[in-house]
Amino acid sequence: MKRLPPVSALALILLGAAACQDRGVEPPQVELGVTRCQRCQRVINDLRWAAADRDDAGMNRVFDDPGCLFALRRERGGSEESSIFHDHASSGTWLRGADTWFAAPLQGISPAGFGWAAYASFGEAQDAVTAAGGGRILRYEQAASVIGGEPDSGTGAAP
Ligand SMILES: [Zn+2]
Repeated sequence: MKRLPPVSALALILLGAAACQDRGVEPPQVELGVTRCQRCQRVINDLRWAAADRDDAGMNRVFDDPGCLFALRRERGGSEESSIFHDHASSGTWLRGADTWFAAPLQGISPAGFGWAAYASFGEAQDAVTAAGGGRILRYEQAASVIGGEPDSGTGAAP
């Protein structure tokens, strides 16, 4: 079960998996410009917005946008504990869902249009919102019930 096929092992090495292992988060295999989002099928071109989880059958899923992860889980289920998000502020780091904060700056744009970016702390999320002149911040627990229920237009208008 633990043994990886050679191609997968190489991809993990290329992604610098070792850098993340001390945090206990195993990064997904993403080949920029090739790997497609599990939900919207857009090619993943920017790792800063990437997210990943496992479905109810244990299959790994990767996404181009945190909004796509939450939307697909709403549509087809998935393991909440397996959710990880790429830190938008510091490239190369993946965050466990429970440790993640989400910020949607005003005029926020993202690959699939949801507009929510993942951060390692409230402070970093606040910095993003402050830099944009306003916006919204959510903890992971709140995010699961808010993000992905919005239209893909990403205008950020909440009920
Ligand atoms: Zn997507």
